[in-house]
Amino acid sequence: MQAEVIAVGSELLTPSKLDTNSLYLARKLSELGIALARKAVVGDDRASLAEEIRRARRASDLVILSGGLGPTLDDLTREASSDATGRALVLDESVIDEIRERFRRFKRPMAEVNKRQAYVLDGALKLDNPRGTAPGQWLEDDHGVLILLPGPPRELEPMFAEACLPLLASHAPSQRFFTLVLRVAGIGESDLEQRIAPIYAPCTEIATTILSAPGDVQVHLRGQGTSEAEAQAAVQGLGEAIRSELGDAIYSEDGRSLAETAAALLARGGAKLAVAESCTGGLLAGALTTTAGSSEFFAGSVVSYCDSAKSGWLGIDESVLRAHGAVSQPVAVAMAAAARERASDTLGEPAIGLSVTGYAGPGGGTEADPVGTVYFAVADANGARSARRLFGRGRARVRTLAVQTALDILRRRISGLEVA
Ligand code: ATP
Ligand code: MG
Repeated sequence: MQAEVIAVGSELLTPSKLDTNSLYLARKLSELGIALARKAVVGDDRASLAEEIRRARRASDLVILSGGLGPTLDDLTREASSDATGRALVLDESVIDEIRERFRRFKRPMAEVNKRQAYVLDGALKLDNPRGTAPGQWLEDDHGVLILLPGPPRELEPMFAEACLPLLASHAPSQRFFTLVLRVAGIGESDLEQRIAPIYAPCTEIATTILSAPGDVQVHLRGQGTSEAEAQAAVQGLGEAIRSELGDAIYSEDGRSLAETAAALLARGGAKLAVAESCTGGLLAGALTTTAGSSEFFAGSVVSYCDSAKSGWLGIDESVLRAHGAVSQPVAVAMAAAARERASDTLGEPAIGLSVTGYAGPGGGTEADPVGTVYFAVADANGARSARRLFGRGRARVRTLAVQTALDILRRRISGLEVA
């Protein structure tokens, strides 16, 4: 079975509103083993919506519409579906009764326009909407299944889960999907692609997708089979081949983010982390405290942004700052060492120090260390390790990459891996 989703609403074509219903539907369809072939967003225009429904029904045997079932004149999904299917809209008195009852419960009179919501495609099954006034509709004919769902997610989601999933389960193939997610740090998207494309490209039975965000690339391998176990077995071979190519650049296979992975390693190791950050302005501490209970592994962070904060708060030698500049390897190492020493004193137990100092831009930088240069250091009982990276331009991007790289350096150090 192949599916398409059409999100209806002119607001979804503006910069202020995102179509999230199709994400929910994509997830649910995937769980059923139904392939989502295409999704579209169409404004509140009867003719173009009818055209899109016709096109989708020719191409796919399941078409799901979201939105445009309300009472107002711009809610045209019923009419467009009638145009596309050639089926009349029939007034369902029971829907009017239900809407009237709902208004009575809220002690409000029912507006005449609400009657528009009581029209159902001839031959369609009405889907109850306990959280709103507009019922959904399920139409099944020679062209396949057409489902009309209300736009508000709090109405669409329970309606789909309660009314549509059981009906679809009987149509769905016995096909199941399994997605292996390999998350990778320290390798850019194009380098990664170059290294693994020769491995995954020949495996046409596995759908491979590479999702890239600054400092965090994900490789998704989706296999299918007649059961979850079979689908999972289908991706194992390719997963193993990619694992041996990427090695310890893979930091998680269970969906955990880099910050969560580093946090888990810290918690296991027992030593608390103290951070001294400059160009990331607290973002590193932010990333480390996203999940509750962070005090178990995180002592705190000093955002030593200007030079006097580095000397005054962290005790970095002013002569070192003068000789090398705040963005330099010796200062990064001194920051990490200071964070470690101060936290160890305060806590009364050995801590790990981590530091970041760099030029986020757009101004600053030197010939040797241009904008986008960031130095990192990690200090523990076995000494300090430092690293330098060149991230190029874009202040927000440089800062995000700096956070991700710092977390990766920390992960590598705790795991006993090389920090380069
Ligand atoms: P209503 O009776 O509320 O008018 P409706 O079925 O006509 O319901 P729309 O008018 O299309 O639905 O949308 C109502 C609200 O639902 C929108 O303002 C928006 O907040 C939300 N919504 C609609 N479509 C989507 C979508 N695809 N993704 C996320 N939210 C959506
Ligand atoms: Mg509406």
